[in-house]
Amino acid sequence: MSAVSRRLTARLRALRPLFQTDDPALADAGADGERVLAWVRLALCATMALIPASWAIDPTVEWSVELQLGIGIAASALAISGAIAWLAHRRRLPRAFGIVSGLIDVSMVSAALASFFVIGHPLTAVNSRVVFLVYFVQLAATGLRWDWRVCAVAGSAAVAQYGTILWAATTFWDLDRVDPALRAIYGPFDTTEQFARLVIMTTVTVVAVGVVLRASRLRLDSIRDRMTDVSNRGYFDERLAEEVSRARRSRQPVAVVLLDLDHFKSINDRFGHLVGDRALRVAAAALRGAVRRGDVLARYGGEEFVVLLPDTSARDAVQKAEQLRAAIAALAVRTGAGRPPLHLTVSAGVAELSHDRPDGPDALLHLADERLYEAKAAGRDRVVARRDLEARAPLELARPS
Ligand code: GH3
Ligand code: MG
Ligand code: MG
Repeated sequence: MSAVSRRLTARLRALRPLFQTDDPALADAGADGERVLAWVRLALCATMALIPASWAIDPTVEWSVELQLGIGIAASALAISGAIAWLAHRRRLPRAFGIVSGLIDVSMVSAALASFFVIGHPLTAVNSRVVFLVYFVQLAATGLRWDWRVCAVAGSAAVAQYGTILWAATTFWDLDRVDPALRAIYGPFDTTEQFARLVIMTTVTVVAVGVVLRASRLRLDSIRDRMTDVSNRGYFDERLAEEVSRARRSRQPVAVVLLDLDHFKSINDRFGHLVGDRALRVAAAALRGAVRRGDVLARYGGEEFVVLLPDTSARDAVQKAEQLRAAIAALAVRTGAGRPPLHLTVSAGVAELSHDRPDGPDALLHLADERLYEAKAAGRDRVVARRDLEARAPLELARPS
């Protein structure tokens, strides 16, 4: 690979966390935002439904096409908002939920504008002041989902839909020959102003995406260990507490594996701290490659790592710990030109949550720590777990020379 393409790949890789969307804390913040928006949307639609509904109590209002259309739109908007509110209050929202609700929000504004075509008022569709402004409320609200994709999709849809409304109004009607009374209220059709509207909508979308990406970046930086690029201890503690209480509620298993690189002090002493740092990064990358998406891998301390395994039985956790041990043992860390590579070994303690005891997260970690110490005392490079689950003999590992 050439130096340029290597640098380009490194740059692109550095951008990757920026677009990462699987942090549960961001997902929770997005779900909270979605629930607040669900109530705001419902309240707004209910208020707007009062306008056509006034027909029922006011005998002077005539049963016109406009009124029928108004009632139809208000009833549909109310039904959609009610359905979204009902769905949004479920415990776990799928990640696509915000994208769909954001799309529905901007589409409701477009539908309200397009309804003016149906009653033959194209100038109102394109020169409306109040309805058009609701687009900006919706675009600002996309930020509350804390997912840049929602902002991007809803913003692009709003620009595309309003662009289509403009195209339809100018293609199928002669906007210079509309009812003078309506012209007096809404003003003449102005191409420059319409172009500016599209540019401002695009700008608001870009700003919303930027704000959400910036907030996500800050959050991700605060939960990551800079040197090894795995999660940090604070984030691990947060997730461990959540997963333990979730496992207790649903009586599902959860396990942790605590890993400590063997004789790391002597690696620093023999090869220097820079090689020690490199070994830590290489080990972290190997562990990262061996865990599943839903697991949480964190740097627990200096040369210690910990893996949280939700919905994993003790037996599966032991297997996973053996895989992690094998992944570390298979590494060959560069130590400098002309010098042989360095091989690492790791000791691990596996602990599982017991539903028979009222243990909390601290007790779970304490148990893993005790077993890790047993692994050290028994000669290192091994996994210690509940007696009946330990592997009969450590895996024989083929090491690269
Ligand atoms: P054991 O097999 O019992 O785990 O022995 P050990 O030498 O690995 O354990 P010990 O706790 O005695 O020493 C841990 C060493 O890890 C000492 C410390 O300098 C080193 N270490 C911790 N964090 C870092 C780091 O960020 N970079 C480097 N290079 N070394 C680190
Ligand atoms: Mg240690
Ligand atoms: Mg150690």
